[in-house]
Amino acid sequence: MTPPSSSRRSSTGLCASCRHQRIVKNTRGSVFSMCERSKTDDRFPKYPRLPVLECVGYEDRAAGGATEPD
Ligand code: SF4
Repeated sequence: MTPPSSSRRSSTGLCASCRHQRIVKNTRGSVFSMCERSKTDDRFPKYPRLPVLECVGYEDRAAGGATEPD
């Protein structure tokens, strides 16, 4: 996959535009970036250290296409 240009990166890096990112909020209102690939592939941590600048699992959310089954 082709990573987005640096202008599209945020504080979470690649995860911000990755279709496998899920934003989770705890009871205190803190927000975390969770990697859903971690459910099926142990190469990916559930909560990756941010910003993620390189990731073999990255897939552009904006690219569309079918969602992979869990
Ligand atoms: S696959 Fe990589 S870029 Fe995508 S959410 Fe997980 S850690 Fe982030």
